[in-house]
Amino acid sequence: MSAASPTPPFTPELEDFRQVVRRYVEAELRPHATAWEDAKWFPDEVFAGLAEQGYLGLKYPEAYGGSDGGYLADAVFTEELARCGSGGLAAGIGAHIGIATPPVWKFGTEEQKQRYLAPAIRGEKIAALGITEPGAGSDVASLRTSARREDGGFVVNGEKTYITNGVRADFIVTAVKTTAEGGHHGISFLIVDRGEGVTSSALEKMGWHASDTATIAFDDVFVPEENLLGREHEGFALIMANFQWERLLMALGAVGGMQVALERTVAYTKERTAFGRPLTGHQAVRHKLADLHATAHTGRCVTYDALRRFVDGENAVKEVTMAKLFTQRAAFEVIDACLQLHGGAGYMREYEIERMARDARLGPIGGGTDEIMREILAKTLSL
Ligand SMILES: Cc1cc2nc3c(=O)[nH]c(=O)nc-3n(C[C@H](O)[C@H](O)[C@H](O)COP(=O)(O)OP(=O)(O)OC[C@H]3O[C@@H](n4cnc5c(N)ncnc54)[C@H](O)[C@@H]3O)c2cc1C
Repeated sequence: MSAASPTPPFTPELEDFRQVVRRYVEAELRPHATAWEDAKWFPDEVFAGLAEQGYLGLKYPEAYGGSDGGYLADAVFTEELARCGSGGLAAGIGAHIGIATPPVWKFGTEEQKQRYLAPAIRGEKIAALGITEPGAGSDVASLRTSARREDGGFVVNGEKTYITNGVRADFIVTAVKTTAEGGHHGISFLIVDRGEGVTSSALEKMGWHASDTATIAFDDVFVPEENLLGREHEGFALIMANFQWERLLMALGAVGGMQVALERTVAYTKERTAFGRPLTGHQAVRHKLADLHATAHTGRCVTYDALRRFVDGENAVKEVTMAKLFTQRAAFEVIDACLQLHGGAGYMREYEIERMARDARLGPIGGGTDEIMREILAKTLSL
């Protein structure tokens, strides 16, 4: 949080909670970030540890083991998670609590919530969301993974790619085609358990190294009827509903990331001397830092505004889209400028700023690209 705390929509209680999360991240996650990045994996036990603190169920009802803290508690957690020092770690946790389990909560039957949401909140089952395919990313409606009806359920064939938690997930909330009809119609969701016919292959990436991003192949996978999530053929609405929270979480992560990068860069530029004075003694450096703070603050304001509207139940598509669009590019540019202000040290792994820059590059691509955000905005503006 910046100096002007608490900033609406957060209450003093949530600001206290922020300090608790900050201490947890600093003590339990950040010390391992480099090792987990190097290993290109973080242990599954991280989920159990987070569950013990109640962090996997902050917004979920107590009936499923959650703490009924609402979206704002989740928002605080997400912003603070950006301090963990690994975009991949934050992404793996975020995919579980922020994009894969919300559809089960929102659209699942009581039985599905007991079978998937409750163990996910306890950290016993890890979740992934499988929408993107080799031939369908931005153009979600052209996905081709098929689910053919058979006695008692569906038989799934196809391939998903770039799926976060794709190697470790115990279940994949998967978008499939349940009709031959093209376009938005005939998309459904199935909760697919890892098992026979489900194969994952990890992908190598520019950043987010600690997270297991994977291609998942489904080869004649039988999925029972009771794993149909939401109404058959109406999955497109689920995808769109889910995107709002995902994009807000990405904006919050970027806001947290910009703040950490700036804190470190201010400390570094005050310490490091050149031409007989600290770097901050040079007007160009001071002005650069001033501009970067203005950009980060703008990102925070736009994000908190969208968050407040979303939490109040407004149709906040326009504001959420603007927050996602603005903050993802801003985070990459702010962190890249922070890297520059570190000079050669910025290029070294020791200072973590190069990792932050690599990790931030995903923002304008994941969860809907910048270009798709502009398309959505244009629509909300009736253009
Ligand atoms: C590390 C990582 C993790 C991910 N995790 C998940 C996950 O957990 N689950 C999941 O389902 N997906 C996940 N994704 C997928 C991600 O959501 C997609 O990569 C993203 O939506 C873009 O789709 P695409 O890669 O197919 O790009 P494409 O759709 O092929 O786009 C290529 C380029 O064309 C542009 N473009 C496309 N259409 C238009 C248009 N109409 N107008 C102008 N420009 C256009 C795009 O903006 C982009 O610049 C992940 C991706 C990455 C890289």
